[in-house]
Amino acid sequence: MSSRSTPLGEFDLIDRFFKTGADSMPTNADEAIALGIGDDCALIKPPANEEIAITSDMLVEGRHFFAGADPALLARKALAVNLSDLAAMGARPLGFTLALALPAVDEVWLEAFSKGLFASAKEYSCPLIGGDTTAGPLTISITAFGAIPTGKAIRRSGAKAGDDVWVSGTVGDARLSLAALRHELNLSSEDLQQIEHRMHQPTPRLELGLHLREVATAALDVSDGLVGDLMHILKQSQVDAEIDLDKLPKSNILKKQESSIQNLFAASGGDDYELCFTASSSQREKIQAISKSLKLPLTLIGKILPKKGVEAKVYLLDASGTLLGDLQAAPFFNSFDHFAS
Ligand SMILES: [Mg+2]
Repeated sequence: MSSRSTPLGEFDLIDRFFKTGADSMPTNADEAIALGIGDDCALIKPPANEEIAITSDMLVEGRHFFAGADPALLARKALAVNLSDLAAMGARPLGFTLALALPAVDEVWLEAFSKGLFASAKEYSCPLIGGDTTAGPLTISITAFGAIPTGKAIRRSGAKAGDDVWVSGTVGDARLSLAALRHELNLSSEDLQQIEHRMHQPTPRLELGLHLREVATAALDVSDGLVGDLMHILKQSQVDAEIDLDKLPKSNILKKQESSIQNLFAASGGDDYELCFTASSSQREKIQAISKSLKLPLTLIGKILPKKGVEAKVYLLDASGTLLGDLQAAPFFNSFDHFAS
């Protein structure tokens, strides 16, 4: 960690928290990290016949999380959302850098933050390899690096008419948690407890991403909302899609809500960090086998269609095949989302 950009000498102590943690990290199995923390740059030695995947995500207090949020959970989420992007491309993590702006040096906060960060880094075998700290409004910016065999990255542009559309896990619980915390609806504290981790501690679907290299034609992670995110695939692949809202996988807690809320949160809630992907219908058995081996539900939710108009479109159906709406431009669901802020 460098602290050159901060005028505060006390920020040197930040190094202590991160260097100690970084030193206890497992060394990268394939030794792709030739040099970690401690010099002007980290060095990544690209593994033979692999490409490096790079992604950055920033979390800003007041924008992406509430002031006073648990620092350990924040650290875990900041890393998880980056790893989720690696998962969506089919990359395995190599390492990450952290740029951290802090309003003041708070040892208790830093201790909890670095503990959370290194716990996640260990869990996903993704070491901290560098970064920077400065004084400023609380902002956590992580850049993650991953590796993918050359040509195997799952891009957003590969979906073909006739492909199935799939999503992993369940969708909508992060949005349901947010709604409950904002008192937009009633949820028992027991129910909230069961789903709150979906909002605070998303699980990057890294293992799934690796398996999808061989079967998916396109993929992304659901960060802003399933239907809106799917539009990115449709636009880049120049196709339309139909999605059966009744098939969206929902938790038993979400299923207790009225059906319009269920569909709204599942289709457009955001912060799910599940993978939405497309695949030829000839891959269905393989995909079910992947689901079984990972013990992760993978649900067929729709179909890719040839593009009819100038703009890519998604048609929303119910189980009877009735068209509930068609969408072609962001922001999606805003008229539908009566909780939109
Ligand atoms: Mg993403």
